[in-house]
Amino acid sequence: MTDKKTLFIDGKEVEFTDEPNLLEVIRKAGLNVPTFCYRPDLTTFGACRMCVVEVEGRGIQSSCTMPPEAGLKIHINTEKTRRIRKTVLELLLANHDKSCLTCEKSGKCELQQYAEEYGIRKIRYPDKAEEDYLPIDDSSPSLVRDMNKCILCGACVRACTEFQGHSVLGFANRGSKTVVQPMNGRPLGQVDCVNCGQCAAVCPTGALTIKSDIEKVWAEITNPNKKVVVQMAPATRVAIGEIFGLEPGENSIGKMNAALRKIGFDLVFDTNFGADLTIMEEATEFLERLKSGQNLPIFTSCCPAWVKYLEDQHPDMLHHLSSCKSPMSMLSPVLKALVPENFGIARENLVVVGIMPCTAKKYECKRPELAKDGVPDTDYVLTTQELGRMIKEAGIDFNALTPETHDSPFGEYSGAGTIFGASGGVAEAAVRTAYEFATSETLNDVDIKEMRGTSNRCKDIELDIKGTKVVVRVVSTLKEAEKSIQEIKDGKAQFQMLEVMACPGGCINGGGQPQSCNDSSIKAERAKGLYKEDAELPVRKSHYNPSIRKLYNEYLEEPSSHKAHELLHTLYQDKYKGSYKDV
Ligand code: SF4
Ligand code: SF4
Ligand code: SF4
Repeated sequence: MTDKKTLFIDGKEVEFTDEPNLLEVIRKAGLNVPTFCYRPDLTTFGACRMCVVEVEGRGIQSSCTMPPEAGLKIHINTEKTRRIRKTVLELLLANHDKSCLTCEKSGKCELQQYAEEYGIRKIRYPDKAEEDYLPIDDSSPSLVRDMNKCILCGACVRACTEFQGHSVLGFANRGSKTVVQPMNGRPLGQVDCVNCGQCAAVCPTGALTIKSDIEKVWAEITNPNKKVVVQMAPATRVAIGEIFGLEPGENSIGKMNAALRKIGFDLVFDTNFGADLTIMEEATEFLERLKSGQNLPIFTSCCPAWVKYLEDQHPDMLHHLSSCKSPMSMLSPVLKALVPENFGIARENLVVVGIMPCTAKKYECKRPELAKDGVPDTDYVLTTQELGRMIKEAGIDFNALTPETHDSPFGEYSGAGTIFGASGGVAEAAVRTAYEFATSETLNDVDIKEMRGTSNRCKDIELDIKGTKVVVRVVSTLKEAEKSIQEIKDGKAQFQMLEVMACPGGCINGGGQPQSCNDSSIKAERAKGLYKEDAELPVRKSHYNPSIRKLYNEYLEEPSSHKAHELLHTLYQDKYKGSYKDV
């Protein structure tokens, strides 16, 4: 039983149990104080001083660093706390590029929001000097860095270090010259950044933003010679509604289909179909490796941030990666190959767009091996956030839309395809199919609940495939993945499959999703939304998806066939040798 204690907030008695700090107690009581640097999933930094409260007998304290104690009497909005917050805001604004009207983050920027809430109309301090402005870094395929908008809250540095164990970003210089920058001050596109976007997801201002491809996609849609088809990843459907005031986890796939058609996309397919294809190939590959005993444990390969991490940091481990492309990158070449004959569209006029929860997919679609004759299989990737913006720009009332269905056949999917969006989902989907492929028996209970959950970042699940013991490890964040790699290198690994998602909790919490950095329960709700859809779908195993069966019968022949390898499998880059490596 957890001990309940009480303290007083503005005279009202409030219970607390194991909250780590006063700020969490304040939030639990349904109140709030502003903060730039506090992020519940990251270590506490205590830098911005916006969350100050007055504690009777202890004076001014920052609520994110002070643990709760029974009997404390705290006041959150006093003359002193308001004065401190206003001064902090004025100092930050004086040092800030105030181009709010044209800023990518306008309307979602926490600095703009608090400046408005605290009625900052004049700034008593001089603006920063012209010569102190820094160039914008747009060298990354996924993100843009504008350090003139950085408020040094350190959230990005902590996200990169604590989620990805990677320390791509760090503080440099001292005093007023302090900046956050990639290793050795190099452009972000020239360091070992994996493009996961977790740094941008926690950035409160427009200092780190997603590189927008919206204009390029509008140009294709409005080009009368082009036919633009779209596919959307599983995790997007349970998050897009948040942009329009719906609850996290609410499945908006029908409204999404309708919105995409209204925007002008010609055909609307679903990446879940690609996820079912991935399972057909990956389950087959897993069983082949189990039989031969080679290249085990198999690593899942649908997260481009994870793939890049291995290529950059552990090229000696690339033979563990499944050779399967990601669901997006399996579906796109299938669309480029088959939409022309199925829908009478010339291949050269066909444009494929992916709607992804993921900033790393913007990098993935530019990988040279995921192209044919120099034309990318996926022409553009938009994040969930960018699609939300396009829907608004098109003047579509999202909530009033009548749900529509996808186009066939590349929109049909199973429940296994849907759960790809949550950590553990790829492995669960693979096991549902691998079990039946290996045993020719029906797997009656398809819910492998031990694989689920967004808070535990490393889970080992032991399975019995008709007498063969198999251990599947599910990890999210590259920091956790690195521990598993070291176990393998030390000869201590006891698992045969390793599922890795770079974002904490999986793609539902990807860097391109609507922002949720102040509420970690949102990712759990999004995951619930996916598992609910899975439970409600008539087909829950990828190999029973009728459209997948038809595709194999009529075109791909069988999993792992020559044709399947040509379209659905890939090579990985050993960057030190400068070559692509077959696994
Ligand atoms: S995108 Fe990911 S790896 Fe790159 S700097 Fe940001 S958090 Fe670090
Ligand atoms: S780039 Fe953003 S998250 Fe990083 S320190 Fe600056 S304001 Fe904070
Ligand atoms: S976990 Fe998902 S959203 Fe995050 S980088 Fe990997 S594929 Fe992208």
